[in-house]
Amino acid sequence: MIDVYRFYEILWDRYGYPGWWPVYSKKSLEGFDSAGYRLYLPAYPLPQDEIDQIVISAVLTQNTAWTNVEKALSELSYKGCLTKEAVMQGPLSDLKMWIRSSGCYNQKAEKLKKICNYLSCVDTPDRKGLLSVWGIGPETADSILLYAYAEPLFIADAYARRVFSRLGLLPLRMEYQAAADVVHGCTPGDWEWYQNFHGLIVAFAKEFCKKKPLCSGCPARPYCSRAGL
Ligand code: SF4
Repeated sequence: MIDVYRFYEILWDRYGYPGWWPVYSKKSLEGFDSAGYRLYLPAYPLPQDEIDQIVISAVLTQNTAWTNVEKALSELSYKGCLTKEAVMQGPLSDLKMWIRSSGCYNQKAEKLKKICNYLSCVDTPDRKGLLSVWGIGPETADSILLYAYAEPLFIADAYARRVFSRLGLLPLRMEYQAAADVVHGCTPGDWEWYQNFHGLIVAFAKEFCKKKPLCSGCPARPYCSRAGL
């Protein structure tokens, strides 16, 4: 059976540095590619505009594809609403319209207002505080903490749980927190590793280990008892 370190190596060999989390307004600027993905690991603390965009896009990406998030970010950018202050000050009805493409826009607009209000009241957010904000669950909180604040957290999202369970690294149908706890217990615990692993897993889950997996050519196939099933 494969372990998480070997799996990480396989993914790294296949994809290299994944550049997560993309920052919309930095597309093609120094240190970013044309889609806003980083070309190398960032230094922390991040500039405030990057923090704000990570927070905003972490909410927008709930239950939707990144392509829909991009459309909403484009509209927010056009309206000058890609900062925490702008989200707080903008009319709720406008915000709903601008993020419509991300789905569940009524709720997401409310969530954006609430998370931006919360972040404006604290110097550095903690997990408990983030989870106390309406509409912010563990995956969104951990994404914000890992990418905006370099907290070492494993993002046990649906991609990770699907891939890990197929490879025998996690039991089937494990909940988010239980899965994250298992991985935290057997990994090195530095933010660089968790950032890279998350981006690599997303790439792998989109290319090979989809809902209906494409096992032919999968680089983890020699270690997978579910290959071809
Ligand atoms: S062999 Fe198939 S099921 Fe196993 S990890 Fe690869 S794509 Fe997923």
